[in-house]
Amino acid sequence: MDKISKLRHEIDSVDKSIFTAILKRIEIARKIFLEKKMLGANITDISREQNLLKSLSKEFSGRLPTVLIEDLIKSIIRTEKIRYNYDEDRSLLSILSDRPILIAGPCTIESEEQMMRISRKVASHGVKLLRGGAFKPRTSPHSFQGLGDEGIDFIRSAANELDMYVVSEVLDEKNLEKHYDKIDMIQIGSRNMTSSGFLKEVGKVTCKDEKPILLKRGFASTLKEFLYAAEYVAAENDNIVLCLRGIRTFEQIESQLRFTPDLASIIELKSMTKYPIIFDPSHAAGASHFVMPLAKAALSLDADGLMIECHDYPQEAPVDAFQAVHPDELSQITGF
Ligand code: PEP
Ligand code: MN
Repeated sequence: MDKISKLRHEIDSVDKSIFTAILKRIEIARKIFLEKKMLGANITDISREQNLLKSLSKEFSGRLPTVLIEDLIKSIIRTEKIRYNYDEDRSLLSILSDRPILIAGPCTIESEEQMMRISRKVASHGVKLLRGGAFKPRTSPHSFQGLGDEGIDFIRSAANELDMYVVSEVLDEKNLEKHYDKIDMIQIGSRNMTSSGFLKEVGKVTCKDEKPILLKRGFASTLKEFLYAAEYVAAENDNIVLCLRGIRTFEQIESQLRFTPDLASIIELKSMTKYPIIFDPSHAAGASHFVMPLAKAALSLDADGLMIECHDYPQEAPVDAFQAVHPDELSQITGF
């Protein structure tokens, strides 16, 4: 017994030194964070985190399981990030200057409970921009059109509770005005990108507070037409984020892809505009197993961010069920 209690003592002191070392790490990471903030540099550096995991796994390979190293480092980094969020400026402006910009949430708001449940999971991965459609631009008038006004209330209360921002689409001027104060970033969908009257109206209504606009590429529009659409809005408000989301080509005749992912357009568009360019792999692919590989490809092509549709029970989703990824997949991008 004496021997065991001596060893236990030893273990206790090792445990203490593990946690002292973690605290020290958090303190150093905090200094880096403050330094970066002062320089206006990006706070999250995903490639550094990935390299760190690789090098530790290599160094301890054969002695410690990789999964233990990964779990430990990820949860320490997660704790650090949660700490920063407490005192970091988490205004919408600062979130939109983070890279990558991450917008995630369900395609469609289905109920108060569904929105809250999925938002919690999305928030647990550090995402601050919550998406969800209340007014769905459906091709068929017979399909579910979204919950409407009630849906906007559900996404707003989920965002309020979780300290997130609402990104949601409105289809017309009436709802733009009606829900203006409940939506933090106004989404203009692919089908509305060509409605110049609506684009002008969005610019006019949002210019008073320069509310950010998420403008999605028309699925049959050229890049030039896309930028003309942005110009209509920018005439009054140029706080715009452009979103590529796949285009229609002959590929859809014999392919699982819903659209053709316009990944190379990230590169081309970068040289044509000052606006941030994000990529929506969910609509571009239309099938969940393509989503994360395309998301990573977009980031490696220097996209400024992503918009990803998530659902924890995709089989229950009334719209775009096939392309929904589980919210936990977001950790592949955020690192936690
Ligand atoms: C959406 O993002 O909710 C959507 C309807 O996408 P898109 O306008 O690109 O079809
Ligand atoms: Mn959708």
